[in-house]
Amino acid sequence: MTDSTTTTTTTTTITPQGTAPHTTTDAGVPISSDEHSLTVGPDGPILFHDHYLMEQMASFNREMIPDRQPHAKGGGAFGRFEVTRDVSKWTKAAVFQPGTTTDMLARFSTVAGESGSPDTWRDPRGFALKFYTSDGNYDMVGNNTPVFFVRDGMKFQHFIHSQKRRADNGLRDHDMQWDFWTLSPESAHQVTWLMGDRGIPKSWRQMNGYSSHTYMWVNAEGRRSWVKYHFKTDQGIDFLSQDEADRLAGADADYHRRDLFDSIKSGDHPSWTLKVQVMPFDDAADYRFNPFDLTKVWPHSDYPLHEVGTMTLDRNPTDYHSEIEQAAFQPNNLVPGIGPSPDKMLLARLISYADAHRARLGVNYQQLPVNTPQCPVHSYSKGGAMRIDKASDPVYAPNSYGGPAAAAERYPEVATWSADGDFVRAAYTLHAEDDDWGQAGTLVRDVMDDAERDRLVDNISGHLLDGVSEPVLARAFEYWRSVDQQIGDRVEAAVRQGG
Ligand code: NDP
Repeated sequence: MTDSTTTTTTTTTITPQGTAPHTTTDAGVPISSDEHSLTVGPDGPILFHDHYLMEQMASFNREMIPDRQPHAKGGGAFGRFEVTRDVSKWTKAAVFQPGTTTDMLARFSTVAGESGSPDTWRDPRGFALKFYTSDGNYDMVGNNTPVFFVRDGMKFQHFIHSQKRRADNGLRDHDMQWDFWTLSPESAHQVTWLMGDRGIPKSWRQMNGYSSHTYMWVNAEGRRSWVKYHFKTDQGIDFLSQDEADRLAGADADYHRRDLFDSIKSGDHPSWTLKVQVMPFDDAADYRFNPFDLTKVWPHSDYPLHEVGTMTLDRNPTDYHSEIEQAAFQPNNLVPGIGPSPDKMLLARLISYADAHRARLGVNYQQLPVNTPQCPVHSYSKGGAMRIDKASDPVYAPNSYGGPAAAAERYPEVATWSADGDFVRAAYTLHAEDDDWGQAGTLVRDVMDDAERDRLVDNISGHLLDGVSEPVLARAFEYWRSVDQQIGDRVEAAVRQGG
């Protein structure tokens, strides 16, 4: 029998080179081997009290956290936002005051795919921003498109289900996608956009970002305006053809994530110029389009762009998981000078995002370093799993013991509008030129050129030929004829001929 206390091992131990630190357990206790379990002799069984082995295995087993639902696949980087123009006549937000520079984080993503899915699938791209402002975190959770598929949060879950996977075989299904779209004509503008060149950006650096939603800006005098944000890429817009994207989906599923990381690493720092459209508060009531309908843009000829500043990304994460995967963006993080509008999708998102983060990361997710504001936090939240910040007495308000007190005079609740009416479940009241097809048709006829219209027809017909059957197919032809008669006819002809 071997005496384990006297046996010597013949395995060579490689010692760390240079200044590498010694390995410890998660509790900081030094350990004696990175390679060998504690055993009864070199050939004997593993000892149950090898807690370091257990810690390594247990930690590994718990590395994954639930994917975001949706926007699971993405990447991001840190940087700064520098104000270059004076927009203080419209907003008092500290982040947009002349001369201000604010640290920030950006995360780009696809929508439907899981965390390992290809970056080059045709999909809108998320464009989520967190500004660490002196008045707390300001998040703008936008997309690379100025519009969206639906205009009421009630339909969002159904929309995402239709884009993700079937219940029976776990596969994505174009029939399901087109079934939802063609039964939801408000999707036409965004689907036109998606099937065009911008549906697959060449890189995240070469796409614009939009708030898509309308927000409210409030200036120092309390004057309110409606605003839409446009982050215009300084790298120039570029796109991938369907064939290039399909090839890259197999050759390099992380093509966009790699591009962003490598360009920042090499010192090529991407930037975007923020421009805004500003609508006087009183224009909204009888503007020709409902300015809060997320399926519509405000034509530039009605509301031109005004420059605000520049966003530059210049620092990569060092730990993707803690800095990007656990980054929690929530459009309800609105700072003084910026408020919501009556956009029903936005109002639903103001609730949904924080709820998603609590479900995915735990109730104290805002104490994770990437989500922590750079200004002091004086809230009355306490307790909860994985709490990091210490709560302190008094733990209630009002109190007589010097606890935080709301500063109503300094921070009045001004970012509001008035509403009146019975409680109903109803569509928006239509404005003079509101319909589901008009702006999509304008995009096809007035913005796209012949070559892009050709690619649009190819992209749509290729998509329809991939598993879309009757009655959805016939409805898809009518859908496109409603957008534009010629495009609809060409799509049907291409599908009937088999592509
Ligand atoms: P404009 O001619 O003033 O603007 C057209 C816009 O279309 C530009 O912002 C341009 O972005 C963008 N664009 C160019 N090519 C494409 C494409 N293939 N897919 C999507 N967008 C593209 O016209 P209007 O403001 O009157 O808008 C006309 C149509 O343009 C709208 O119905 C909408 O579909 C689309 N659009 C409008 C936007 C807006 O906020 N008004 C924003 C984006 C699109 P860029 O300058 O970066 O090249």
